[in-house]
Amino acid sequence: MDRRDFLHAAALAPLALSGSLDQAGSALSGSLDRAGSAPAAPPPDWARLRGRLSGTLVLPGDAGYAAARRLYNPAYDRIRPGGVAYCANAADVSACLAFARANRVPVTARSGGHSYAGWSTGTGLVIDLSRMRSVAYADGRATIGAGAKLIDVYDRLSRHGVSVPAGTCPTVGISGLTLGGGIGVMSRKYGLTCDVLESVRVVTADGRVLTCDATRNAGLFWACRGGGGGNFGVAVSFTFRTFETRDLTVFFLNWPWSKARAVVRAWQSWAPSAPGELWSSLHLTRSAGGLDVQIVGTYEGRKSALDRLLGPLVAGAGRPSSRSARSVPYLEAMKIMGGCSSRTVAECRRTPRTVYSGKSHMAYGKLSADGVRALVNGVARGGRHSVLMDAMGGAIARVGPAATAFPHRAALFSVQYYQEGMDRTWLRKIHANMSRYFGDHAYVNYIDPDLMTWRSAYYGSNAARLAQVKATYDPDRLFRLPQGL
Ligand SMILES: Cc1cc2nc3c(=O)[nH]c(=O)nc-3n(C[C@H](O)[C@H](O)[C@H](O)COP(=O)(O)OP(=O)(O)OC[C@H]3O[C@@H](n4cnc5c(N)ncnc54)[C@H](O)[C@@H]3O)c2cc1C
Repeated sequence: MDRRDFLHAAALAPLALSGSLDQAGSALSGSLDRAGSAPAAPPPDWARLRGRLSGTLVLPGDAGYAAARRLYNPAYDRIRPGGVAYCANAADVSACLAFARANRVPVTARSGGHSYAGWSTGTGLVIDLSRMRSVAYADGRATIGAGAKLIDVYDRLSRHGVSVPAGTCPTVGISGLTLGGGIGVMSRKYGLTCDVLESVRVVTADGRVLTCDATRNAGLFWACRGGGGGNFGVAVSFTFRTFETRDLTVFFLNWPWSKARAVVRAWQSWAPSAPGELWSSLHLTRSAGGLDVQIVGTYEGRKSALDRLLGPLVAGAGRPSSRSARSVPYLEAMKIMGGCSSRTVAECRRTPRTVYSGKSHMAYGKLSADGVRALVNGVARGGRHSVLMDAMGGAIARVGPAATAFPHRAALFSVQYYQEGMDRTWLRKIHANMSRYFGDHAYVNYIDPDLMTWRSAYYGSNAARLAQVKATYDPDRLFRLPQGL
């Protein structure tokens, strides 16, 4: 069983879309409000924009419009953009931004389209980067087009025996992931995706194409490492430091639900302080099949060494009811974690779309006995849902909280509350209960449309500097999000 199969095995039955869309209110109205709040302007000359692009502009009524407006989450299919521009290069992006400025058309960048809140579409112009997806490697560096999806990054770099630390889902975009931080199975060893970013090319609101790195446009470079997508400009390419890959041992451990509290207690002490080569994620799930506790993980090393490292976990949690571990080439490990084990890269690209919603916490401390009980009881109550906790620490924690815009360097693990469907009742309840223990910290890449404290929760003490960068590079606020800096 791979990580995605695990989520599917949770049999989180899709809720009827008609009901769920109403409950998605804040996410959807966010996108629609942006259009509604724009002052009246003469009708935009879409044909003129089309004539200026090397790429393709898809308008309502065109063949392909239905596909062009889709995100990963079908709940947002009802949003109808004024146009979707498949940009071919940075000049196209500049032309789109000039059009948006001149016509006062709301503009939204889209790469992988995995925004939890659907904030990579809207009723104005969608700048789609998916045609700019080249992946080039030379001398320890990968230069990746903003529209590349993670499976393409892993696949193309595997031909050179290298990779970048990045997330699990094969169709997540490199852009959204990097701009918000980027937590993945190699992050405890090599850092977040944004930590290995050496430079990024960004088209700013005024249409300039800026190279941002430690010395050029350093403030914008800082903001592009954790400040979140959609705030400062449109990234068109990223250059990352790579690492040489080795085979990974992928493992799965299961316990009966009666052991859930013991597993949470043991895992939270063990996982964040394990060696950087060892990453793990603890999943608590309520599904049609019942309640499950599972730890999935990867280890850059041999199975025999992994068994020794698992010792303290098993001593605290008790012997798993089942366990499996196998050593596989790095690309296959990424496919297993992404839920497309043994499939071709092309098949991985066709990951089925899912109606889902989520909320998050960043856990800066271990849960008390009360906190563990609240979490386990919260999962056991009603519905079909999961809590997914990804170990942090290691290289993530060796970077200072103000060194990049991603502030959660001291977090022990991320906590994702995941629900298939758009009914947020359970999510809101467990999030409110667990805020007592985890406090006010959340991950901008699990963007949460009903989080009132988003500014402090996503950015902590980096919020003020992010606001300055916004004022410098987008003073007229061309780029707007419902939770926009
Ligand atoms: C199934 C699934 C698995 C996930 N797994 C992980 C994981 O393992 N680790 C992790 O850290 N996160 C994970 N995430 C969260 C993911 O990192 C975020 O949802 C991320 O924002 C998605 O990026 P995207 O390019 O696919 O999304 P999009 O929806 O295209 O964009 C997200 C935001 O960034 C903006 N944006 C997009 N492209 C650009 C650009 N080129 N320039 C400027 N702004 C841009 C958009 O306007 C939007 O506001 C997962 C999400 C899902 C749905």
